[in-house]
Amino acid sequence: METKFKIDLNNCTGCGTCEETAPVVFKVVNEKATINNSAINKNIKAAIEAKDSCPDKAIIMV
Ligand code: SF4
Repeated sequence: METKFKIDLNNCTGCGTCEETAPVVFKVVNEKATINNSAINKNIKAAIEAKDSCPDKAIIMV
């Protein structure tokens, strides 16, 4: 099964931690994180690490 994430936009502060950890998967645009879900499975370790490193718990597995 494919792992997918979504961003809780109310909690995301645009800090950039996710993008620093997994730049192929996350990109901050206009101070909110965006996700390239199609890149997650090829970069699963970094993607999970980025999810866990979000200081605001704004990355949710769906
Ligand atoms: S680490 Fe969390 S709060 Fe920071 S930009 Fe990414 S999703 Fe938003």
